[in-house]
Amino acid sequence: MSKTIAAVATGPAAGPIGIIRVSGPQTLAIVDTIFTPQGGGALSERPNRLLTYGALHSRDGKVIDHCLCCVMHAPNSYTGEDMAEIQCHGSPAVLSETLSALFAKGAVQAEPGEFTRRAFLAGKMDLSGAEAVHDLVTAVTTQAAENAAAQLDGVVGTHIFEIRQQLVDLVAEFLAVVDYPDEEIDSHLFDSACEILHRATSELYDMAETYERGRILREGIPCAILGRPNAGKSSLLNALAGVDRAIVTNIPGTTRDVIEETIRIGAVVLRLYDTAGLRDTQDPVEKMGIDRAMKQAQASSLILAVFDSSDHISDDDLMVIARTHGKRTIAVLNKSDLPSELDVQNIQRHFDYVVSVSAKTGEGLKELYDLIPKVVGMDGMSFDGSTITNARQAAALVRAAERCEEAFVAAQLGMTPDAIVMDAEGAIAALGEITGQTVRDDIVSTIFSKFCVGK
Ligand code: GDP
Repeated sequence: MSKTIAAVATGPAAGPIGIIRVSGPQTLAIVDTIFTPQGGGALSERPNRLLTYGALHSRDGKVIDHCLCCVMHAPNSYTGEDMAEIQCHGSPAVLSETLSALFAKGAVQAEPGEFTRRAFLAGKMDLSGAEAVHDLVTAVTTQAAENAAAQLDGVVGTHIFEIRQQLVDLVAEFLAVVDYPDEEIDSHLFDSACEILHRATSELYDMAETYERGRILREGIPCAILGRPNAGKSSLLNALAGVDRAIVTNIPGTTRDVIEETIRIGAVVLRLYDTAGLRDTQDPVEKMGIDRAMKQAQASSLILAVFDSSDHISDDDLMVIARTHGKRTIAVLNKSDLPSELDVQNIQRHFDYVVSVSAKTGEGLKELYDLIPKVVGMDGMSFDGSTITNARQAAALVRAAERCEEAFVAAQLGMTPDAIVMDAEGAIAALGEITGQTVRDDIVSTIFSKFCVGK
């Protein structure tokens, strides 16, 4: 019999309300001993998901809170087991007393992700759905949450199940003829195999290709702001951060270090790095700052190269042009509020994207703001769950697509059924890793170990 687990689901910080989840065969018996509904009766007899007000008791029977609690009877719960949720006041004292009462009655501390792992093992969701739970917990943008919610609802899993089932049926048909080697194989079998394998190959490659954007959706995009000293890099960072007023983190450094601000631009989380101004210098400390700026630029997926449009192109600007060569870059011509002295055509020769702004007045920031999602390929993107955000799933999709493609070639060449079956089975196994049907236990453990406790 599995153990009954309990954990705080609302994180370690104190809050007005804290939630403790309990799951497992002893749940109802345990919560009945520590929670007394107002007006009598037992919590375990209440209907599913109905919040009940009552008194919460510590392990030695003292009332430590008056709060709400509900039960979810198996199998109609998140984990498929009997579950309870205690919504008490969120002080660490109340939460730890409640947990300690639950432990005293036989529950044990839940491991990270153990509730979702149990839900997966009970068949409540496939592995791609379970991974979407983690995405939902960590989503920074509304769009990332929307995509994850659809995946939790089974968008990826359902599609993969369908393709996988077609391959399973196909293998079954070929295995049937393998058993009768002397009989001529119906050519329709090869034709239909070609059609199924061709469609599966292209659908799987299409899904895998969404990962590049999915990674950005999930992790955001590192973006270095480069430029010579006084071009207006810091001003641009501040102006951009002010546009959405959605600063997620703010890590200050010294003026010669790299300063990071995370901002949201629509679906794109941009991790902006303001760097030391690029110029030819003998100052060793400044040189170190410039080295860091270049390292940051190398590690960034997008560069904002800032030029002072009120001045002529300098040698330092030429250094910026040279150092951004071959990188995905937007040239930002700053100080558009001042008379222009810059040779704009020269800049346009070097950059695919050029935008004029004034970090001081805000002029042109909207254009820059609109341009960024386009440059990183995130405009017009749908968030219906079809975007793969998970490296493990993307790798398995590519492997499945490759094996389908090999099976398709084998079918087209009219090779022996064994060759087709072998590749199709490889594809089936790779798809099973996404849904969790054929995934190794240690991989499942690794996936859930990244979850937080209580989820
Ligand atoms: P950085 O060294 O590239 O980070 O440049 P700063 O952001 O510190 O700006 C250098 C100087 O240019 C400061 O005096 C800013 O006030 C000024 N500055 C920055 N952006 C603008 C702008 O759009 N218009 C005007 N007129 N001045 C600006």
